[in-house]
Amino acid sequence: MDVDTIVSLSTPPGIGALSVVRLSGPAASKMLASLLGPGATLPPVRRATRVSLHDPHSGERIEEAVAVRYEAPSSFTGEDMVELSCHGGFLVPGLVLDALEQSGARSAEAGEFTRRAYLHGKLDLIQAEAIADVIHARSRAFHRAALAHTERGLSRRIAALRERLIRLEALLAHHVDFPEEDEAPVAIEVVIEESSRFIAEAEEMLATAPEGELLREGALAVFAGRPNAGKSSLYNALIGEARAIVTEEPGTTRDALEADVQIGGFPFRLVDTAGLRAPEGRIEALGIEIAHGYLDRADVILYCLPVGEPTSDEDRDFLERASSTPVVLLRTKGDMMKEGAPPEASSEPKVDATVTVSAENGTGLDELRRVLPPLVFQTIAVAPPEMPVLTRARHSRALRIATSEVEQFRDGLANGLPAEVASTHLRSAETALEELLGTVSIDDVLDVVFREFCIGK
Ligand code: GDP
Repeated sequence: MDVDTIVSLSTPPGIGALSVVRLSGPAASKMLASLLGPGATLPPVRRATRVSLHDPHSGERIEEAVAVRYEAPSSFTGEDMVELSCHGGFLVPGLVLDALEQSGARSAEAGEFTRRAYLHGKLDLIQAEAIADVIHARSRAFHRAALAHTERGLSRRIAALRERLIRLEALLAHHVDFPEEDEAPVAIEVVIEESSRFIAEAEEMLATAPEGELLREGALAVFAGRPNAGKSSLYNALIGEARAIVTEEPGTTRDALEADVQIGGFPFRLVDTAGLRAPEGRIEALGIEIAHGYLDRADVILYCLPVGEPTSDEDRDFLERASSTPVVLLRTKGDMMKEGAPPEASSEPKVDATVTVSAENGTGLDELRRVLPPLVFQTIAVAPPEMPVLTRARHSRALRIATSEVEQFRDGLANGLPAEVASTHLRSAETALEELLGTVSIDDVLDVVFREFCIGK
């Protein structure tokens, strides 16, 4: 079957110093040659080489570019590839793309280069997805997790889990097929114990999933507190620009404002809401309703109360109701704190952290940036760096299926289910992991059985 040679602009269109045009497929080098003009030779492989590009029909020069040529299978896609660094702008990349299309290249579909890399065994599915995540990352923490996945951090763990399943099958095969072996068959307890080990490891990984998915979305951090408590000023101070309207008039933030920010390298969606109090007008009432909607969904609440002000019944009521969500009590307007005054009375409400801050002079903002991430990202923030984070629903779905199948396998065996029947659960678990990695191979099972159990002795 003929494979198309595909071409695309790999940098964003528009004004810029450079644009990169990528070609992949069996005819990549030939297509480059067709643009080089008479007498020119192809650049050597893997060496950045200046080339003059010409329109293949008119022969007119269209661009001076730097070309790098790769030969299959040593390229990103595993095919012959050419990368052209051209000038940016609105015209040049289009001219080069047109010229290559005239030479027979087909315009690539979204993700087609990475898909080819996967099809040629250069990447597994998790790595392929992680490339997209690296590109879309908007926080250091998400980027770190995605980068670890591109380097097979998660794939290795999934492959190790799959290896465990294959070992389990091998143990079981011994148990089922060779009852007359000289040695005693592997005790069923050993198989059960091994299954429990698999489940424990999978559950350890699954524990990162809720936070991993929050890494993608950004954790919802919602400001709350009475009007004039200093919410909008702090919101602005944290996002570093004056987005919310700050006034001395209570009740001026009637809607909710949302901004994506990185706090301590973690992604947060910061929400400034209408102050919570008995509303005076319909619009304010609407704002308060929206505020409650956000507060219900909040991953962390930033409750503002000016320094030195005692907590009111209203404040306490709110904080008690919010008890299932982490709350940071922000003692605002810290610059107004009287010299030598004791920080706060002992009647402080029970919250997860209290930070004295000032939007005016920036006091306490660094401390807030430090205390916030571990309140939301409890598992990830303390996990060892080699612990892969499940950042996609696909990851956790597959692991959950695998775990539940192994549980059924283990419980079945413990309750006397015949090994042949129980083992169907093992195979379903394997399929789930193989689908996650994007690999399927039954030969592996046989390899392990024969390697570990020296059949035919
Ligand atoms: P919100 O209604 O809770 O959003 O409160 P605002 O942010 O609009 O602030 C209410 C008033 O408190 C305004 O007059 C602000 O200038 C003032 N304010 C806010 N933060 C500070 C601060 O850190 N120090 C001082 N001195 N005043 C502040």
